[in-house]
Amino acid sequence: MCARPRSVRRFAKGPVKTNYHQHTTWCDGHDDAETMIRAAIDRGFDEIGFSSHARLPDVVEGNLTPDSAPAYAAEIRALAAKYADRLSVRLGVEADYIPGDTTPEKVRYAHLGLDYLIGSIHWVVAPDGAHVPVDWSPERLVEGVKAHFGGDYETYVRTYFVQEREMVARFDFDVLGHPDLVRKFNGRLAYFDETAAWYQDELRLTAEAIAASGKIVEINTGAIARGWMDDVYPSAAFRALLRARGVRFLLGSDAHAAAGIDCAFERYGDEAGRLDKLPLPNLVSI
Ligand SMILES: [Zn+2]
Ligand SMILES: [Zn+2]
Repeated sequence: MCARPRSVRRFAKGPVKTNYHQHTTWCDGHDDAETMIRAAIDRGFDEIGFSSHARLPDVVEGNLTPDSAPAYAAEIRALAAKYADRLSVRLGVEADYIPGDTTPEKVRYAHLGLDYLIGSIHWVVAPDGAHVPVDWSPERLVEGVKAHFGGDYETYVRTYFVQEREMVARFDFDVLGHPDLVRKFNGRLAYFDETAAWYQDELRLTAEAIAASGKIVEINTGAIARGWMDDVYPSAAFRALLRARGVRFLLGSDAHAAAGIDCAFERYGDEAGRLDKLPLPNLVSI
C-alpha cells in the first residue's frame, strides 16, 4: 500500500509537482473535485488535472454521460478559478478505446473545451466480440479469458497490445494511460511471464508504435495505492524501451480518492525523461 509521504513539497530535481490523472464522484471516484483540490494544495502540487472516465456519447455506469459531462466541465473550470491563486487546475477526460464501440478522439469531447485527453484500454475485445475487463477483478479476468480466449492468456495479452498499438496510431489523444495494465493482476494470478520472449516482443513493438505516435506516456502509480502490486505502469523494462526511443513521461497517480493523489511520487518523481508539466496548449479543438 501507499505510505503517507514525508512532507515533500518538491521533487529532488523537478521544480513543479503535477498530476493529470485522477477521478472524482463525477465518475467512479470516492471524493468530490474540491476535496481533491484541497488535498493537492496540502501535498504541495503546482498543477493538477481531472480525468473523468468517459465514452461519449454513450451512457455507461461510472462514466460521464452526455448530460453530466458539460456540468463536470463547468464545475472543474469554476473550481480552477476559485483556487487559481493556490494551484493550476486543468480539465481532461480519460477516454476508452474499445474497437467497434468507442474511441479516444478529440471530436467526441471538443464541446467540453478540454485541456487534454488521456487514451486508455480497460477492455480487450475478444475474437467473438466479447469485451473482457482488464482491471475489474481477478475473478472477472479469469472468467473472461476462459470464456472468450479459451483460457489462452498469451493471446489475451497479445490482443491487448495489438489494440493499444491501433489506439496510439489512429487517435488524436495526448497521454497514453497505464500502457501495460494487463500486469495489474499478474502478481496475484501469475498468468504470464513478463520475461518471456513473446512478451518482450510485444513491448518492443508497442514502444515503437508509441514513439512513432508522439504520445506522452504516463508513469501510473495507481496499482500501488490500491495494493495490487508494488510497481508502476509501465514496467521498468517497458520504460527502458520507451525511453530509448525518446518517449516522454508524465507522473500520474490515477487517484480515486484524495488520500492517494501522490502515492509513491517520491519513488518515481525523478525518472529520466519525465516532464514536469503537460505541454500546453494541448487544447482540444476541431
Ligand atoms: Zn484507467
Ligand atoms: Zn484512471
